[in-house]
Amino acid sequence: MRLCRFEADRLGLIRGDRVHDVTAALTDLPAQRWPLAPGDPLIAALPTLRPVLERLADSAPSLPLAGLALDSPIANPGKVIGAPVNYQKHLAESRADRGINFGTEIKGIDHYGLFLKASSAVIGPGAPVTLRFPERRHDHEGELVVVVGRAGRDIARGHAFDHVAGYCLGLDMTVRGTEDRSLRKSLDGYAVLGPWLVTADEIADPGVLDLELRVNGEVRQAANTRDLIWDIPRLIEYASSFYTLYPGDVIMTGTPEGVGPVQPGDIISLTVEQVGTMQVAVRAA
Ligand code: MN
Repeated sequence: MRLCRFEADRLGLIRGDRVHDVTAALTDLPAQRWPLAPGDPLIAALPTLRPVLERLADSAPSLPLAGLALDSPIANPGKVIGAPVNYQKHLAESRADRGINFGTEIKGIDHYGLFLKASSAVIGPGAPVTLRFPERRHDHEGELVVVVGRAGRDIARGHAFDHVAGYCLGLDMTVRGTEDRSLRKSLDGYAVLGPWLVTADEIADPGVLDLELRVNGEVRQAANTRDLIWDIPRLIEYASSFYTLYPGDVIMTGTPEGVGPVQPGDIISLTVEQVGTMQVAVRAA
């Protein structure tokens, strides 16, 4: 199942090149009262909501997918988790590029563990990435993103996929500099999620997917998720050993080699095999 958000918080189920408006299913979500429960209520309810969504889609009005401005498929991720230097060749390029390392020694994910991006940084591909601080370098980082479906802590790697709702694409936009990652990667719009959520049942093995990122048509990043240093079960095992994972939390699995700066006017196109393609515009603040 492929789910998207479009036009002022409408929920869409994608079949072929059409988006079926299944927003009516949201009335089945539990009423929310303060204090809000942790987690994204739609993702939490997805296992029971799926048959409702399929049934609604059979008779719902539909729109062509092409041209729709899509919002982040996860409306309320509690945590946006990032994996620093999780591809060997990206580690090598980071060590060689002073515009990335600023003279410090770059180590691997075993050293840094994980980091968090502010959830206020999340946008969908329908919105542009707006570059603040024009004098600084802003890099694209194309990544496969895991969407947590079921809460858990201390999840053993053998059970990791039981906690995955699905996958989407992510741009872990980054301002280069000496500040902490959590600051440099948390500007408004610097966590692009999209174009839709592909439920886990549609992807037999997320550990063997080709990823390609282009800027204005030119290939900048081309890799395969088999080259992740920490694979998805390891990321889930490690993250959940520090904090409880909740439905709608997202794990950006890390970017491969080929990161580089973007400028206002650029169009970033990111594709992950079996998940989809999203195009994101870059503009000046
Ligand atoms: Mn990243």
